[in-house]
Amino acid sequence: LEESQQPNQLHFLVIPMGSPGHYIPTIDMAKLLAQHGVRVTIVTTPVNTLRFGSILDQAIQSGLPICFLEFPFSYNEFGLPEGCESIDDLPYMGLTRALMQAYASLQKRVEQYIENLNRMPNCIIADTFLLWPGETAKKFQIPRIIFDGMNCFTQMCNHVLYLSKVYETVGESEPFVLPGLPDRIELTRSQLPFAFNPKLKGINDFNEKLRVSESEAFGVVVNSFEELEQGYVDEYKKDKGDKVWCIGPLSLCYKDESEKVQRGKKSSINKHECLKWLDSQEKGSVIYACLGSISRVEPAQLIELALALESSKRPFIWVVRAGHKTEKIENWIDEVDFEERTKDRGLLIRGWAPQLLVLSHPAIGGFLTHCGWNSTLEGVVAGVPLVTWPQFQEQFYNEKLVVHVLRIGVSVGAQKTVFWGDEDKSGEVVKSEEFIKAIEEVMEEGKEGEERRKRAKELGKMANKAIEEGGSSYQNMTRLIEDIKNQARTRNLS
Ligand code: UDP
Repeated sequence: LEESQQPNQLHFLVIPMGSPGHYIPTIDMAKLLAQHGVRVTIVTTPVNTLRFGSILDQAIQSGLPICFLEFPFSYNEFGLPEGCESIDDLPYMGLTRALMQAYASLQKRVEQYIENLNRMPNCIIADTFLLWPGETAKKFQIPRIIFDGMNCFTQMCNHVLYLSKVYETVGESEPFVLPGLPDRIELTRSQLPFAFNPKLKGINDFNEKLRVSESEAFGVVVNSFEELEQGYVDEYKKDKGDKVWCIGPLSLCYKDESEKVQRGKKSSINKHECLKWLDSQEKGSVIYACLGSISRVEPAQLIELALALESSKRPFIWVVRAGHKTEKIENWIDEVDFEERTKDRGLLIRGWAPQLLVLSHPAIGGFLTHCGWNSTLEGVVAGVPLVTWPQFQEQFYNEKLVVHVLRIGVSVGAQKTVFWGDEDKSGEVVKSEEFIKAIEEVMEEGKEGEERRKRAKELGKMANKAIEEGGSSYQNMTRLIEDIKNQARTRNLS
């Protein structure tokens, strides 16, 4: 594709991380950049190429200047099972570090590729958790942008916590207020991301490296839109300078049903079957329950959720993640005939749901989510209220944003993060009554429910406007491209 590059066309090298919650929006961003005329090369590995393949096909069909650069992945060298290239492929979460090391081994290959190019890429955009692209960018003096799959609210929560260290003086479950934020955000220590857990080996060292990597970057791309969290965008810019570009919601680069159904992984349900079921439901009546791509929720806990969906007497879609250690819940579903028992009202998707397709259907009335940022934002785009059930990392922050700042959600009341890698003892089980209570509150027809729905709808409209021509995210994307063009000019002059 190098030959086809126009003389003044920018070329970006995009480096995603192997976890659906990271690579899906990174690929979306690449697509958006290409729609804005940038030539994009995405660094990938064999299994991921298959996963991204449908997007590549779409891109080729629509004539977008995207190509893939595939490198072999060293599974055995790092003790990873053959074909394991993404966090959701890991047999246990303790292998995350090995996966990151395997990703770091791509550095040499990427640098060889750059050396052999006639023209340097104008920019590298790499996932926030990948540290080595920083070294590569420095070596070739290419501006590097961090792709932050989270939001400015999260950045600011982390920022004030690091500065104030307020969490250090409180007990595990004692609520405290995050100081200096535009809203009153109250959390407990047990709800904080792993970065604040000193018991995790090596976490301080990794956090320090992340901070250095961030401070050395040319800027940060955020999958959010300014109107959603303006106060936090402003605060973040005060800290980082103006090289913060909110260009989301990135999921909105998928327009039609056939594009939506192919996003991420291969859907476990046929598009027509899914739409037929949704079409047969009343408008705004269905609860969609999906816990993202990597949450490994204990079977006992999933049973509580299943029983709640059953006794809520509302139509529902329940996505049961397939993967390692999911046999127990699969067996329970079969043993108790759960599918048969709920077949009049329920649709089970075992494996990968076409989430965008589902959420954009008018039958959906509420989204029970683990508050991963992509899912949360996709819920916002869909204009539906959320039932929030955070599991770990920054998901408790996202819950606060949804429930307390945006006021478009109801919490099931989770108190504790599920410890990463500690799949067998999460400690806390949220009972089915708690789920039912939150679902009823979200779906009820009273004044509060109506107002919540209205706010959610309004935000959905704002999200769609942000990426339209002239919208805030559209303008930020234009600004980002201009900033890189200016860099390229300066470089040519020097
Ligand atoms: N997703 C999907 N189908 C599924 C599960 C997840 O399409 O069955 C997508 C979802 O739309 C989102 C991403 O996978 O874009 C998950 O990212 P998120 O940040 O919500 O959570 P994570 O998986 O990182 O915990």
